[in-house]
Amino acid sequence: MRIRVLGSYGSRLPGYHTSSMLINDNILLDAGTVTAVLSLAEQATIDHVILTHAHLDHVVDLAFLADNVFTLRTAPLRIWGPEEVLAALRNHLFNNEIWPDFSHIRVRDFPIVELLPLAVGRASEVGGLTLHWERTNHPVFTAGYLISAQGNTLLHSGDTSITGKLWDMGRAASGLRLAFVETSFPNRLEAIARASGHLTPEMLKGELAKLDRPELPIKIFHMKPQFLDEILVELHDLDDPRLQILHGGEIFHC
Ligand SMILES: [Zn+2]
Ligand SMILES: [Zn+2]
Repeated sequence: MRIRVLGSYGSRLPGYHTSSMLINDNILLDAGTVTAVLSLAEQATIDHVILTHAHLDHVVDLAFLADNVFTLRTAPLRIWGPEEVLAALRNHLFNNEIWPDFSHIRVRDFPIVELLPLAVGRASEVGGLTLHWERTNHPVFTAGYLISAQGNTLLHSGDTSITGKLWDMGRAASGLRLAFVETSFPNRLEAIARASGHLTPEMLKGELAKLDRPELPIKIFHMKPQFLDEILVELHDLDDPRLQILHGGEIFHC
């Protein structure tokens, strides 16, 4: 897998983009930042979008992506996630009020977007990738993923606070090469982090101990940019050489 980080923050400021990654040029993992970073030609090659959850910082560019590419596609843009996540999109985004229902608009003989639920408790195949997911601890239904291809696996935490099954899944995974884990707030805002379903650097330390993968590279994303300076100091103070903070534009192979 080739993974390109399009956006890595938990909110938006100039130069700071919300969470999204591009896998193998045609699969998005969350859609917080797509249309401000990819050319129109690159946007048109996206065949699949895998969603962790329906919060706006993870789905907002689905609206503009669908709008940009609908005359360029030769097949639907396929949007995958747990059924609860897709239901939120149907009810609150593609509902003909906030935005057109692109799942019922056809330019040729296919709908612009298709909403496709992932299997529960077993693997799903999406664009040559094998997906497993577990629900995380976040105020809305949210999935964290194991994504595998050719024996190599990555873990993506989605948004989460203190959680369990995600780390159990990661601990048991074979071929795990890297993990993307959220850290949103500085330590002094732990109460807000817990209430909003997120992690601080100190909470991250406890969660990584549960994952128990001492050699695994950990890529940190979803920092709230207004607290970035504090979060960076606190992550540095963890003195954990596995940690890399993502700022967007990074490319990984696994
Ligand atoms: Zn969220
Ligand atoms: Zn988020």
